Amino acid sequence: MPPAKNAMEIFKLLDMSNCRECGEKTCLAFAGALFQGQRKLAECPKLDPEIIGRYSEHPEKKDATEQNRDEYLQQLKSEIANHDLAAVAERVGAQFSKNRLTLKVLGKDFGVDTAGNLYADIHINPWVVIPFLSYILHGKGLPVSGNWVSFRELNDGKERYPLFQKRCEEPMKRVADIYTNLFDDLVHIFSGKQVEEQFESDISVVLQPLPRVPIMICYWRPEDGLESSLNVFFDETADENLDIGSVFTLGAGLAQMFGKLALRHGFPEAVSSQ
Ligand code: SF4
Repeated sequence: MPPAKNAMEIFKLLDMSNCRECGEKTCLAFAGALFQGQRKLAECPKLDPEIIGRYSEHPEKKDATEQNRDEYLQQLKSEIANHDLAAVAERVGAQFSKNRLTLKVLGKDFGVDTAGNLYADIHINPWVVIPFLSYILHGKGLPVSGNWVSFRELNDGKERYPLFQKRCEEPMKRVADIYTNLFDDLVHIFSGKQVEEQFESDISVVLQPLPRVPIMICYWRPEDGLESSLNVFFDETADENLDIGSVFTLGAGLAQMFGKLALRHGFPEAVSSQ
């Protein structure tokens, strides 16, 4: 069977019980998260393995998640044409020049022109592009408040938090435990800023994946038989400047990027169970 054409096709296959075992409030929310490339079919425990298998019979083709993500990306790009990018740039803390809006993503230039073409000084990953386009199209551009909150305190973050821990905080902690230069790299390669330790952590680094959506990573080293710990914090305005799905995508994407850094430096055990 060919891969599903869109998330609604998958939605029709779901149990529709809204049982929340996948960590989403409803089956529709699960289908929507799948649409944005954040979930996999196999993460619904109620879905018949035979159906999961049927939709995975063609590994040479893109799977449904990738395909839906690509469609969503195209939709966002086409929306760009209906926006006055000069006005948008002012709202979201970007520059506009020569028909192109440019802002900083982790310290590097990232831009889009009025036809939806992307320009970047870094690799253009979907986990950056989707939040980038959502931010400029739908973000309110509120000034950063300086008040840090956890993902679960953001609107609609509570239901997704177990998955956020699994996809973002836990893999980041594994990397930080093993690849101890991680935080130096974040400062030097990704223009992170080491700030005064917050919440009694041992290390606190602030990254700027989008101008008005800072992310703070706090790490507590193991001590007196206690395990290490890592938490990610957002400005309390994050859910107004970016949709919650894109906030999730940024966190999970950063975790993947940290894993790749560890691999590149010869620490495969930092990502072995991801
Ligand atoms: S686990 Fe499956 S059936 Fe339950 S809410 Fe999630 S998608 Fe729906």
